[in-house]
Amino acid sequence: MFDDLNDLYQQVILDHSKKPRNYGRMEHPTCDACGKNPLCGDQIQVFAVMDGDKILEVKFEGDGCAIFKASASMMTDALKGKTQAESNVLFDEFHELITKGTAPEGNHLGKLEVFGGVNRFPARVKCALLSWRAAMAAVGTGEKTVSTE
Ligand code: ZN
Repeated sequence: MFDDLNDLYQQVILDHSKKPRNYGRMEHPTCDACGKNPLCGDQIQVFAVMDGDKILEVKFEGDGCAIFKASASMMTDALKGKTQAESNVLFDEFHELITKGTAPEGNHLGKLEVFGGVNRFPARVKCALLSWRAAMAAVGTGEKTVSTE
């Protein structure tokens, strides 16, 4: 199904989906949130340790498709050490990349650009965004349960 994706990008995504980074339950998170994508069946719980507005640690548990797992894995790496404001900027840039296929000039996405091909698979857009929406819910204020529907 990913025939159109560049081989290298495909490899990075497969690697993260098979060996997700920062996977597992966190014993003493300062915040957490749940998310689900009913259309695909992806489910996630995100845990984080915050120091003021800085994200020190992020972990996740859950199950779902390859794009979901790879996105969650790379999200945890990307958000560690970021402030809430920085993570909001990154989420906006990632959202634009996933939905439009291109990211703004001077973005901070780095390795996350491997998801640039996902917008050509509309059914996978929600899979790629789920972990990020859950993470934003965890480190932000307000509703701690997100659904893509
Ligand atoms: Zn999915």
